[in-house]
Amino acid sequence: MVIVMKPQATKEEIAGVEKLLQSLNFGVHISEGSERTIIGVIGDKRQLAETPLELMSGVDRVVHILEPYKLVGRAFHPESTTIKVGSQEIGGNRIVVMAGPCAVENEHQLLTTARFLKEQGATFLRGGAYKPRSSPYSFQGLEEEGLKILAQARKETGLLIVSEAVSPHSLEQIAKYADMVQIGARNMQNFNLLQEAGRSNMPVILKRGLSATIEEWLNAAEYIMSEGNYNIILCERGIRTFETYTRNTMDVSSIPSVKELSHLPVIADPSHGTGRWKLVTPMSRAAIAAGADGILVEVHPNPKEALSDGPQSLNFDSFTALMKDIRRIAGILGREI
Ligand code: PEP
Ligand code: MN
Repeated sequence: MVIVMKPQATKEEIAGVEKLLQSLNFGVHISEGSERTIIGVIGDKRQLAETPLELMSGVDRVVHILEPYKLVGRAFHPESTTIKVGSQEIGGNRIVVMAGPCAVENEHQLLTTARFLKEQGATFLRGGAYKPRSSPYSFQGLEEEGLKILAQARKETGLLIVSEAVSPHSLEQIAKYADMVQIGARNMQNFNLLQEAGRSNMPVILKRGLSATIEEWLNAAEYIMSEGNYNIILCERGIRTFETYTRNTMDVSSIPSVKELSHLPVIADPSHGTGRWKLVTPMSRAAIAAGADGILVEVHPNPKEALSDGPQSLNFDSFTALMKDIRRIAGILGREI
């Protein structure tokens, strides 16, 4: 349920409603829009049967939300959310480019990539230090050493750092070294990890699960938001279908769908979405044309030697071509890169 306050409601009226709900043990979430404040109410609504909220001063109307997710939905926050990370904003007019290797392998690999990406106009450097590999025998990441290399790249280039957490411990480590945390497809329904991310104050990229419906994905975001962290970026990264030519089927239609259902920014990862480097540029174009607020792309100085996800990684030449292409698409849409 959300309580829509009148545009001219005073701070005292808003605080009055908040206080009443808190005294009844409801979770209260405030969304301050440019025109009016909306109060999200989480808890057993039956308790409110005898409470005429609509008659309280400053209240315009009470809206019951049918979807299982409440705070991530547009009813709670009708305007699109923009998220500030360092000097950057995600969800605004500028399309953000996040790029880097699947995994941090060594200092030389990461710093060479970071310098190149900076030159090309990317603003975020990605790199896994904790890798949730499908096989236990594959490279599992450099862990804290990898995070230190990422922090070194940030210091040198000014790129903001995003890295994946796979457990509460890695989440804590990432908070020490990075600017943003990624929760990967395999952990999209790791509810304990989602709640931990919700209690941290780091912006979170929440990838869509391997076989998750849009509703399950938004519910996962709700787990994070209901703990108080509103800085969530949704990332479409392909879903499992009967098709085997591509690693996953990149669901471009989820981008405008989720933008309609939710106020959160949405980015796309065409590297995992396709598993094939040749498809990364066309699917980046498609994602941006469909309204994505950014892309997350794997780039490696020498994909043939990558310790993970080489077949879907762009080399420097193909990334240069991608940037040229997506700048053109962004221009058509009146957006910047
Ligand atoms: C990754 O970004 O390297 C990754 C493992 O992604 P996903 O969780 O989408 O598979
Ligand atoms: Mn990868």
